[in-house]
Amino acid sequence: MIIAANWKMNPPLAEAGALAAAYAAATHDGVTRVLFPPAPYLVQMSMRLDGSGVLLGGQDCHQADSGAHTGDVAASMLAACGAGMVLLGHSERRQDHGETDALVAAKAGTALGEGLAVMICVGETLDQRAAGDAEAVVTSQLEGSIPPVVTPDRLTIAYEPVWAIGTGKVAGVDEITAMHAAIRNWLAGRGLGQVPVLYGGSVKPGNADEIFAVGDVGGALVGGASLKAEDFDAICAAGARAAAICASA
Ligand code: PEP
Repeated sequence: MIIAANWKMNPPLAEAGALAAAYAAATHDGVTRVLFPPAPYLVQMSMRLDGSGVLLGGQDCHQADSGAHTGDVAASMLAACGAGMVLLGHSERRQDHGETDALVAAKAGTALGEGLAVMICVGETLDQRAAGDAEAVVTSQLEGSIPPVVTPDRLTIAYEPVWAIGTGKVAGVDEITAMHAAIRNWLAGRGLGQVPVLYGGSVKPGNADEIFAVGDVGGALVGGASLKAEDFDAICAAGARAAAICASA
């Protein structure tokens, strides 16, 4: 199980150190934890998490190696600050910054070239789901956002229905099961069948066990609940329970 914390543009630096220290103090068998903090916090979080087993990632990177791109962050800079992974194609970047699948693929190609692993987000809007297009939208995002150079060991997919992110609405078990099966099927057809597929969208301590019981769910990308140490810890504990059930099956 992979449980990833997406802090987005939170919290204040004064709180981030204590939150990372709480992550570092916990252990959960069978769970790989990843923290995506704001880029300016990476070096400090890297020091806080040193030796804890919690991996560090950037929330985005530029598609170019370097150059005149004011305000952007290069993949090589993330790596130099201690990141081993980068989150790409989050729906907030697709919406707020007009990021296309082609741009996400270009960024992923650059990140892979710098030795980073990539976690690529896909997910449909409520209108797309209502129109019956959810699977077509998601498979089209996979097709366009994953660069041909990727290898299975450096790719994770996060399925995040846009309507479930930060809203408190969670996709139903049937919806998650069907979409994860479609994603798994698409990946298997490209030799990427072993790639972990996470669910994201209002994952909380109260719903994590049910979500992790879905066979093809390999963990979670967690936004809001990752900002409370006890909630993130409870979600990781649910991940450990799911990992134990899987190991004994
Ligand atoms: C996210 O930021 O990717 C996310 C899933 O957020 P939340 O858990 O708050 O819905």
